[in-house]
Amino acid sequence: MLHASYLCVTAHPDDEAAGFGGTLRTCHDRGAESYVVCLTPGQAASHRGLAKTDHELATIRRKEFAASCEILGVDRGVVLDYADGKLHADRPLQRGRGTRTSHPRVPA
Ligand SMILES: [Zn+2]
Repeated sequence: MLHASYLCVTAHPDDEAAGFGGTLRTCHDRGAESYVVCLTPGQAASHRGLAKTDHELATIRRKEFAASCEILGVDRGVVLDYADGKLHADRPLQRGRGTRTSHPRVPA
């Protein structure tokens, strides 16, 4: 049993699954708490499914993120509202936003 918790910060919904989903699930299965903060709802994606607008795509991707977090055993997953593809030009990322409720601990 791990007595650890960790915070992952991603850019887009699906990064948590495609990038390190196996690690998230393994840590969950070993008892670690996990938090994932996704900075954008991924509304600038080139693969848009049936979405007709950026808002529709963001809504779909938020739902997919929530389902992914459920499957991966993420204790708390949050999607923030920064503009996809414009993080470098957007207002400065607010330190602590979405992370104040997590207290990552790494075992020694
Ligand atoms: Zn991505």
